[in-house]
Amino acid sequence: METGPFYITTPIYYVNSVPHLGTAYTTIAADALARYRRMTGHDVFFLTGLDEHGQKVAQAAEENGVSPQEWCDRIAPKFRETWDLLGISNDDFIRTTEQRHKTGVQAFWTKLHDDGYLYKGSYEGWYCVPCETYYIEDQLVEGECPSCGRGVEFIREENWFFKLSEFADRLLDHYETHPDFVQPDTRRNEVLSFVKGGLRDLSISRTTFTWGVPLPFDEGHVTYVWIDALLNYITAIGYGSDDPEMQERFAHYWPAQVHYVGKDIIRFHCVIWPAMLMAAGLPLPETVFAHGFLLTKGEKMSKSKGNAMSPAQLVDRFGVDAYRYYFLRDVQFGSDGSVSMESMVQRYNGDLANDWGNLCSRLFNMTEKYLDGVVAEPLSEWHDDGDDTLTALAGVLPEKYEEAMGRLDYVAALEAVWDLVKDCNRYIENEAPWNLAKSEETWPRLETVLYNALEAVRIAALFTAPAMPSTSAEVWRRLGLGDIGDVTDIAAEAVWGRLPVGSRVTKGDPLYPRIYEE
Ligand SMILES: [Zn+2]
Repeated sequence: METGPFYITTPIYYVNSVPHLGTAYTTIAADALARYRRMTGHDVFFLTGLDEHGQKVAQAAEENGVSPQEWCDRIAPKFRETWDLLGISNDDFIRTTEQRHKTGVQAFWTKLHDDGYLYKGSYEGWYCVPCETYYIEDQLVEGECPSCGRGVEFIREENWFFKLSEFADRLLDHYETHPDFVQPDTRRNEVLSFVKGGLRDLSISRTTFTWGVPLPFDEGHVTYVWIDALLNYITAIGYGSDDPEMQERFAHYWPAQVHYVGKDIIRFHCVIWPAMLMAAGLPLPETVFAHGFLLTKGEKMSKSKGNAMSPAQLVDRFGVDAYRYYFLRDVQFGSDGSVSMESMVQRYNGDLANDWGNLCSRLFNMTEKYLDGVVAEPLSEWHDDGDDTLTALAGVLPEKYEEAMGRLDYVAALEAVWDLVKDCNRYIENEAPWNLAKSEETWPRLETVLYNALEAVRIAALFTAPAMPSTSAEVWRRLGLGDIGDVTDIAAEAVWGRLPVGSRVTKGDPLYPRIYEE
């Protein structure tokens, strides 16, 4: 199996709030890809972390009577705990207050300063503190912040600027020659028209507060928090480090294959970030994929509107794998999508309890009951045309799944698995093993049917693993197989007939006990 580095990132989350369904959504999607790419033999590096600088953090700390660092140290474990709870398999967790990040940011500024991409200028504009963003007069909406609608203050300060305006042509050229750089296409069009509208140089430092990474060449200036945050993608893997091992890591993993971002932060990721990388002479990431918002009853979920459920509450009710499955299966990745308790219960009972969980339970039960739990040999003389649909669906699954995951279409990937799961249910109904068990004569056919169905389950479990790692691992254990987490060549593993004759199957408890509406 061809292996290669595969670097996946989530945005780093702002320590001003605790993890919620939105941040969990991005992180689960990234995790499912990371898990799948490990199963395709890639050398995956999956990064997430925290954005800990900026005025808002300093203010929140002050309001709580602690230092900014203490504030960050208090919030950080809440993120780590939530990711543990959700089965997130990140390889690293960067916090922008770590020394490795500061070292990398300063190395970056030194490089850009030396190469003439920075200059000092004065800046005036309207500033929104909650958004930590400057606006020019024209951008304000009725005199207020166009993003959050709150009041803005007029600020005049001396800043360092990055010559962003010089990069418009190179950016447009890159979008043209790398159509996958911004995905999905709707976002790509948005970015294109923004850059075609002309780019202004970007102020990259602040002097009005100190909670940030100082510019190495001008005391009193700290890095603008948004820019500070973007640099995590390179500092975490060793950019600017003196340590040869870290330098090697950077050379190995950069550029990233996918940056997962929310659609509200694409300008930073698709315009500013690539221009910064170009200025530093670094290659650009392959894809920035912007997902949509989760909506409840048509409104964006937010804590302030009180329509947010916490990840922990949902895990409590549905279990972690069902939680992960629901958000990947019910919301088309890249579009906005409605989520609700009702639809989650429906998905759970329909897809998981009925289709998948029940299939496993019935088969494992029948294998115990009729075959003492030992997988019997399928005999070619007992093959029937009725078996062909099942083997054909299992045969096309690796390719269909890969094609879908290649464009981060989790819905299509899971639908491909469900084609097999549903057909296997149909197969059991048609073949009726309980009837075949009634006579000596049909016994070999019973053994063949059970083998085929168990084999379909083994293969389906491989492809449910990226979304639902713990139940897939459990299905493999019950099939008497090894650790599904050790699979590094999923396509080879999915070849029909690899379920060993003689495997010991155990039935166990239902994987997804039915949930009744309260
Ligand atoms: Zn605002």
